[in-house]
This record gives sequence, C-alpha cells and structure tokens, in this order.
Amino acid sequence: MAKAKKKKARAKSKSKPKTKSAKPKAAGPKTVFSIAQITVPIAGSDQLFPVRRIYCIGRNYAAHAREMGSDPTREPPFFFQKPTDAIQVVMPGKTENHPYPPLTNNYHYEIELVAALKSGGKNIKSADALKHVFGYAVGLDMTRRDLQIGMREQKKPWSLGKGFDNGAPVGPIYPVSKIGHPVRGSISLSVNGQEKQKSDLSNMTWSVAEQIEKLSEAFELKAGDIIMTGTPENVGAVVKGDTIVGKVFGLPDLSIRIV
Ligand code: MN
Repeated sequence: MAKAKKKKARAKSKSKPKTKSAKPKAAGPKTVFSIAQITVPIAGSDQLFPVRRIYCIGRNYAAHAREMGSDPTREPPFFFQKPTDAIQVVMPGKTENHPYPPLTNNYHYEIELVAALKSGGKNIKSADALKHVFGYAVGLDMTRRDLQIGMREQKKPWSLGKGFDNGAPVGPIYPVSKIGHPVRGSISLSVNGQEKQKSDLSNMTWSVAEQIEKLSEAFELKAGDIIMTGTPENVGAVVKGDTIVGKVFGLPDLSIRIV
C-alpha cells in the first residue's frame, strides 16, 4: 500500500511541470539528496532569512576578555565560526527545550546581539559597513567551556567547544527598517530568574561596523551571513532543568530550558 502511494505521489509531481508553462527548466545534474536551507524568521513578515554562515567574535567586551584570561587593551579582534545548522530558532513568548550537549560537564551561556547581513563584499570600510546589515536578533553563543579551554591549552581548534548541534539559539530577526542599529542599550541574561550577565551594547570593544570591516578583510562577506557580536562578562554554567532568558534592549526576550 505504501508503495502504491509513493508511486502515485511521484506520478503527480512528474506531471506538474507539464501543466505549468512553456518556460523550460534549466537542465543539469541534480543533487543526490536534498538538505534543508537553514532559515530564521523575520519579525513582522512571513518571509524567512536564509543563513549562509555564522561568524562569531571572541572577547568583545573588555570585562569578559579579562575573565577569560586575556588583556583587552592589546588584542586585535579574532573570529571563529559555528556550523550554520547549529541554529536553534526560538520564538518570542516560548521557552524552547534546548538539549544539553554531549561531552561536556561545563556548559556555558553567552548572551549576544546578532547582526544579519543582506549583502557583503571584501575589504568593507566600517563607515560603509552598516548598510550591509539587514537586521538584528538576540542570540546565545552556547559553549562547551571545558572543551573550548582544553583545546585552547593544547593549541587545538575551538570547534568542539563552539561548533556543535543547537549551539546557536537565535530569536527572529528584526529589520533595520523597524529598529535601526542598536549601538547602546542593555544586554543581559538570567538563569532561573536570577540575573547573571549584565552590560550595555556600548561596551563592545569592536562595534558591529568594525567587526564587518575586520571580517571582510579575511572573508568575502555575503548576504545571509550572520555575526554573533560577542558576550559581556559573567558567563557561567547551566545544568539540565535550568531556564535561560536572554535580553537585548529593543528586542523580545529569548528563552530556553536545558533538557
Ligand atoms: Mn561568544
């Protein structure tokens, strides 16, 4: 029976182009299977933002740089990436279940403002950079801190600590046309109702525009790239059962429960 159903569905899809139009579809090799385009909802719209790459800046608030054992005054910005499909979309007003990842006993939150690009380029100057930003969202740069630090000490890549499944919870993207460019305003995070992180966007060492400038010297930025713009001080661990609420001024709260 299932077989018959499948056959019928196939026949149906096959016959579809015939009815459509005279416009020929470009012939060419087809992918052996399909994979999902990773997307984030756009607030106030039924359109979705397609994500190409996730860039993250390290130690972009001086007090966080200090707590991670580095000198914030001398360090040029540095970046790492998360896999695009690390995104976990979290809608406002909902507390999304977030799986505690494997291989860690020290799972940390990092509240961050996320900038989403609608265009890009190489060697973008900071003065021109913000015109490439489509919008902003609240995000969490979740981190297996024990693995990140362990690998760092062995001079190995951070990937295990930063680039894992569901490691990038993100709320909907608010277009610049609605909210402008957030350059100041509070950024904070609580666990089980208790405030843990608290700072102001104006405390970023490298502004969003400067991050775009620096990133575009290393990579050609493109539409669909998102940038996690760094976390303030007082990062810390969560365990199963904890509820995290992340807040950025001007955007709705993002809430997850560790399960
Ligand atoms: Mn971070």
